[in-house]
Amino acid sequence: MTIELPNLPYDQDALEPHISSETMSYHYGRHHQGYVDKLNRQIDGTPMADLPLVEIIRRAREQAEIGILNNAAQAWNHTFLWESMSPNAPASPDGRLGTLVDSEFGGVDEFKSAFRDSALAQFGSGWTWLVLDGSRLRIMSTSNADSPVATHMLPLLTLDVWEHAYYLDYQNARAKYVDAFLEHLINWDFAARNLEAFDKAA
Ligand code: MN
Repeated sequence: MTIELPNLPYDQDALEPHISSETMSYHYGRHHQGYVDKLNRQIDGTPMADLPLVEIIRRAREQAEIGILNNAAQAWNHTFLWESMSPNAPASPDGRLGTLVDSEFGGVDEFKSAFRDSALAQFGSGWTWLVLDGSRLRIMSTSNADSPVATHMLPLLTLDVWEHAYYLDYQNARAKYVDAFLEHLINWDFAARNLEAFDKAA
């Protein structure tokens, strides 16, 4: 079995002007593809080669196989990132997710402010997440390749805050990139689907 690079859920230029086609060509076509290719070379001929990606992440973490963990988590995180953005993003969450956002953060604007603070406070490379932790929503950031998918928490949304995600479009201005995500791209429907799938399985 080989880990495949999934297709983008929209055209490469669909997130313009907020994220350029050029950024997507490097970020998806080179970086994401690179993590997938390196992972496949690392697991080729090992027992991990027959596992689904999330199981590879969990096994690599248990066994402290850091090289495999890094590439496997980056492969998973990027697929989750593309889905976390949409060219037709709804302005706010509704249904159960909307209720949870209101009760946990006090509203969508307060959520955005807290997410922004977490993304800007992440020193160096990493990811900012909205997760379900038990029965509560939580915003958190992780370093480098680390991913809450390997833990008890359920990821609902993510934003990549590695410089390669925004440098071509925003240079070092991470805040402008984070704001573009929060104001124009955040895919609440995807977060709601993740929550719903979890509720059904629970
Ligand atoms: Mn990235």
